[in-house]
Amino acid sequence: MAIERTISIIKPDAVAKNVIGQIYSRFENAGLQIIAARMVHLSQAQAEGFYAVHKERPFFKDLVSFMTSGPVMVQVLEGENAVAKNRELMGATNPKNADPGTIRADFADSIDENAVHGSDSLDNAAIEIAYFFGKDGDLCPRTR
Ligand code: UDP
Repeated sequence: MAIERTISIIKPDAVAKNVIGQIYSRFENAGLQIIAARMVHLSQAQAEGFYAVHKERPFFKDLVSFMTSGPVMVQVLEGENAVAKNRELMGATNPKNADPGTIRADFADSIDENAVHGSDSLDNAAIEIAYFFGKDGDLCPRTR
């Protein structure tokens, strides 16, 4: 299996619930390493830019308003099959449909306030990593 990198965002609802550590434990227990992390309170422009692919969707305005309602925790996860593994840990977009034991089943309240974001493909992961961690030295893969 390939070693991949993906973006995870702990959204404002989960940050407000004080479960960053519990979510990080799930990444670590699944063999994913956190190789970059940044807490940021997104501006409207940053949130709109990040979710630009959804700008024609009916929920776009509410999504941007939610994502700017409080700080988020953004991290790059590295490991075997990181993109799919993170999506598996997250669970379905709508927490009502999320498998028991997934992050969204345990921490999300609704389809719009659903605790976490995760890149949905390797190509999008590269774009999203560059969006938040563009500078040399931002990524810190393990050396031991
Ligand atoms: N979303 C929403 N209402 C919807 C569908 C999606 O508010 O009916 C939000 C939700 O926060 C979701 C994000 O838009 O996580 C991106 O949607 P996508 O379908 O890409 O789901 P994800 O990849 O996050 O599971």
